[in-house]
Amino acid sequence: MNIHAAISEADERALLDSVDRWLVKKAAPVAAKFEQADEYPRELVQDMCEMGLYGALIDPEYGGLGLSASTYVKIVARISEEWMSLTGFFNSHLMMALIVQKFGTQAQKDYWLPKFATGELRGGLGLTEPDAGTDLQGIRTTARREGDRYVVNGSKLWITNVIEGDILALLVKTDPEAVPRHRGMTMLITPTRDIATGADLPGVQRGRKLPKLGYRGIDTGEIGFSDYKCDAEMCLVGGVEGKGFAMATGGLEIGRVNVAARGVGIARRALNEAVAYAQTRMTMGKPIAEHQAIQLKLGEMAAKTRASELLVEDAARAYDLGGRVDFEAGMAKWFATETAFEVATEAMRIFGANGYSKEYPIERLYRDAPLLMIGEGTNEMQRIIIARRLIARGGI
Ligand SMILES: Cc1cc2nc3c(=O)[nH]c(=O)nc-3n(C[C@H](O)[C@H](O)[C@H](O)COP(=O)(O)OP(=O)(O)OC[C@H]3O[C@@H](n4cnc5c(N)ncnc54)[C@H](O)[C@@H]3O)c2cc1C
Repeated sequence: MNIHAAISEADERALLDSVDRWLVKKAAPVAAKFEQADEYPRELVQDMCEMGLYGALIDPEYGGLGLSASTYVKIVARISEEWMSLTGFFNSHLMMALIVQKFGTQAQKDYWLPKFATGELRGGLGLTEPDAGTDLQGIRTTARREGDRYVVNGSKLWITNVIEGDILALLVKTDPEAVPRHRGMTMLITPTRDIATGADLPGVQRGRKLPKLGYRGIDTGEIGFSDYKCDAEMCLVGGVEGKGFAMATGGLEIGRVNVAARGVGIARRALNEAVAYAQTRMTMGKPIAEHQAIQLKLGEMAAKTRASELLVEDAARAYDLGGRVDFEAGMAKWFATETAFEVATEAMRIFGANGYSKEYPIERLYRDAPLLMIGEGTNEMQRIIIARRLIARGGI
């Protein structure tokens, strides 16, 4: 169950205001510089740890803020208006933390969650491999039990927070021959760095940071494991083998709501920029906002942005009530992320040449948006998931 006592409206307002002040004062002025250099914004990451964002969804008994998804998505959407990458640092980390919070043993929660909540240990979710993305059951990374340890061999690709991070929730096969394949899949919590020295642990080969179209600044990369060893009691999530696939896909539901909220942030910013620009840019003796061709665009952008906000609110509310939310999360993820790309593209047209310039924010929104259609389950898969649930329910 995910039932969280919602914080009061006043507390939520105060929290959003403090995030807003930080964005305006510290993040917004440097976002373009870090983004264009594809540089890790170390100081901003530290600020986000201090604001509690690395523990946003971790229960207060472990030092987290224990926010509801409904409050969390508002934070994610607001930050994404300024720079979407910033949400990736703590969201990928929280996906890992939620796996421990939801499925870990008491000893694992007591040991890992306080370190995750403060950002003392920062990490992400290690699912994807060179030959397995959508088809997660096709992963080849293995872990075999040797006494009280697991020995891991394999490699992961496209993992966020893997170059700068310290730890991963790692999806492995403990029984590669199992049929069906998911029965042989297991989730491990694998530290990759010696906390005291910062050096890679034996058996870890940290690969390269991948160059990307957008979502820059944040480290997405590759990592290899060669006879890497971890302590079974602390690393085997829940103390059970064979449940890793369910843990991974359970974690993706909040990931999907989060990605949808990023889409809302991008669409909202692109729309607001377009509205302001359309009122100052003059052609044929009047602001372009007075041309009907531009109004048709703005009307459609506004309606789709608002619909995205409502779908995200709906999915977050369903998540907070507990139970399965792939239907609501899938609809929010698909609609809000397709909208983000459409609205960013339309904003670029409204800005004309300036939309194509690195001196205006539109081109970044346009480059950031497509990731949302790929990550956390592609938008092709979202529609299939929605349809399957729809058919099982017998209608909407
Ligand atoms: C910037 C970035 C950050 C990422 N961060 C992480 C991370 O932190 N951790 C992590 O584990 N992964 C991460 N990923 C990987 C991401 O989750 C995968 O890219 C995604 O799951 C898609 O897998 P794929 O790229 O292998 O595409 P493929 O699975 O090869 O899919 C290719 C195309 O085929 C379609 N397709 C595949 N199977 C079907 C089907 N059965 N029916 C219909 N269509 C289908 C897909 O929709 C897609 O259009 C990240 C990716 C990016 C780009």
